[in-house]
Amino acid sequence: MLRRLQRFWRVECAVADDNWHGLHAAPLKDGYEPLDWRSADPRAQRVRVRSHTCECERVVYALCRAGGRMFIRRTVRAAGGVEVSETDWFAGVRAERPWGLLLEGFVG
Ligand SMILES: [Zn+2]
Repeated sequence: MLRRLQRFWRVECAVADDNWHGLHAAPLKDGYEPLDWRSADPRAQRVRVRSHTCECERVVYALCRAGGRMFIRRTVRAAGGVEVSETDWFAGVRAERPWGLLLEGFVG
């Protein structure tokens, strides 16, 4: 039932207002590859968010850049608080590939 409601909401909010909603990551596919999520340590004074998934979801992903490196940040909002974790920091634009795979549901 919950899955059905989530699917309904995802479709509805995409249809209701395309201008307000951002990217929605696809549900994880069978056999998806888990990413290595680590606790988010402040390693740079300035982090630029290049892209992010929609704030209407409980889990929000962001493709971030700092000091010539890129990584994906995951923010999980739960009743107990917010948990933030990150992938490895990749040189150059190498994080764009896992970012695309994450949006398609192949990694997560
Ligand atoms: Zn949304």
